Amino acid sequence: MSESIASQAHLEVLPLRRADVVFKTHPRARRYLAKVDKEGSIVLTVPRAGTQRDALAFANTHREWLIAERAKVLEELARPESRRGLRPGDSIWYRGVEESLRIEKDWGRPVLCVANERIFIADEGMDLSRPLKERFRMIAKAEFPEVTHELAARFGEKVKKVVVRDQKTRWGSCSKSGTISLNWRLVLASRETRDYVIIHELMHMKRFDHSPKFWALVESACPDYRLHEAWLRERQDALNW
Ligand SMILES: [Zn+2]
Repeated sequence: MSESIASQAHLEVLPLRRADVVFKTHPRARRYLAKVDKEGSIVLTVPRAGTQRDALAFANTHREWLIAERAKVLEELARPESRRGLRPGDSIWYRGVEESLRIEKDWGRPVLCVANERIFIADEGMDLSRPLKERFRMIAKAEFPEVTHELAARFGEKVKKVVVRDQKTRWGSCSKSGTISLNWRLVLASRETRDYVIIHELMHMKRFDHSPKFWALVESACPDYRLHEAWLRERQDALNW
């Protein structure tokens, strides 16, 4: 950090403006924080008692470093070998099966095909993870609440609300108020694995911990739960696009 500041110090760096940054409020943050995220955005954390104005002033005292850091991230992202995302020919998991991404033409317009899903896209050179995420989230939103309520009824639980989320590492969670949150990525797993995650969360309504007693409840409701846990764990990276 100090090295970048020293080497950049002689440059005239214009002050950062609101449009150059992304504000994030964090109830537990005690002070202002400024960093560059993986996408190359300058992210300013505003503590509960703080203001965006002060956050910006704080960031401006470190702007040479922030701007140099952002340039580094953007340069790295622009390199072809660090190009992320999905391209035609890549495979993804969908409903527990490995499927390849194909492009077909429909009256000259590119259509992304995977399993039985067909998605019109703007341009086949784009990162295909974007339209896929959008479609899979829609599928999850249409499907997960109903499945969850059915499973809840089977195990004698009442679910107030089912929320579909975009999470990197969690498959599901359950709040004491009766809300179950599920990761849309569960459509990438088989229906049995998806159901296991929902059952896991439903069992938390009986026991809010991961004690042996909790796992015994899970096992009686879903005898194959270890297989589903292993499937998800072994594919953590492949499911995380
Ligand atoms: Zn759990």
